[in-house]
Amino acid sequence: MSETIAFIGLGNMGNPMAVNLYKAGYKIKVFDISTKMVHKAAESGLDTVDNISELFNDKISTVITMLPEGKNSREVYLGEDGIINKVSKECLLIDCSTIDINTSKEIGKSAEDKNILMVDAPVSGGVMGAQKATLNIMVGGSKLAFDRAHPILKVMGKNIYHAGEVGSGNGAKICNNMSLGITMIAASESLMLAKRLNINIKKVHEIMKNASGNSWPIAVYPPLPNLIDGAPSNNKYKPGFSAGMMNKDLKLANECSKSVNANTPLGKMALKIYSKFCDNGNDTKDFSAISKLIGGDAWDYPIE
Ligand code: NAD
Repeated sequence: MSETIAFIGLGNMGNPMAVNLYKAGYKIKVFDISTKMVHKAAESGLDTVDNISELFNDKISTVITMLPEGKNSREVYLGEDGIINKVSKECLLIDCSTIDINTSKEIGKSAEDKNILMVDAPVSGGVMGAQKATLNIMVGGSKLAFDRAHPILKVMGKNIYHAGEVGSGNGAKICNNMSLGITMIAASESLMLAKRLNINIKKVHEIMKNASGNSWPIAVYPPLPNLIDGAPSNNKYKPGFSAGMMNKDLKLANECSKSVNANTPLGKMALKIYSKFCDNGNDTKDFSAISKLIGGDAWDYPIE
């Protein structure tokens, strides 16, 4: 394969995504600001560098970033020594981070000014989806950029959607995660109510999974332990997708709602609930641990 990919951000998602590209035969060099993550990536067999500049010693055909927040994407692409100034105009830029729409648009505009193709391509499906390469990937960018990104994204995901122009991928992702935050709280409330009604939780979970109360948190990622294999609730709520990340996404959703005058009362309420949970020191726990805040003394399981 003639592609040489530079992959930046090797956390819960980035590491397994990079591993899938490597296994598919791509030549890939990886970097993370955390040496712990660099070591972990090296243990997975990836070709690591100690410094972001080293990534660009070879000619790179695609850059993929998987970073926590808009400020990180801004720094890595547009900062002093940023990627935009390091790559040739043949290089494709793919930012898979979930960030605010305006930052995506700014990166896209700076790339366009240099005739470089760029897409925002945030993902959904969690760490399990990243490991199994079954992510849903929402792409914003020109048709040309989408067509170039598609074969690479297809290695990491199952469904690749062209949502619209640059920024639309993050717009779609923010709408998705507002629903996810709300439904995780809803699933927690239903199971807590079942517990207080003294009905067997496993039975209620099975019923909801097959009835009209089903949702992704119920079907795939339940907020209580011992219901579905592989869910972070079975692993003391080790993320997964952290409560801090969900809080960030709900903030993004609420900012978007304000900016276009959309009425999203449940989104606002979900942000309040997650903010309180994070303020109590739970931001590094998986977001499904919100059930502990909802269930209170109904639950006897530990969250750490
Ligand atoms: P994470 O915190 O586990 O990983 C992010 C990595 O980026 C960290 O290892 C960090 O050291 C690195 N990083 C930060 N700044 C950097 C820089 N300047 N240069 C190089 N590396 C840098 O986060 P994650 O869970 O992998 O999530 C990454 C993105 O994917 C977020 O935007 C998140 O919202 C989104 N996302 C996460 C999930 C999930 O289930 N975890 C699911 C879908 C989308």
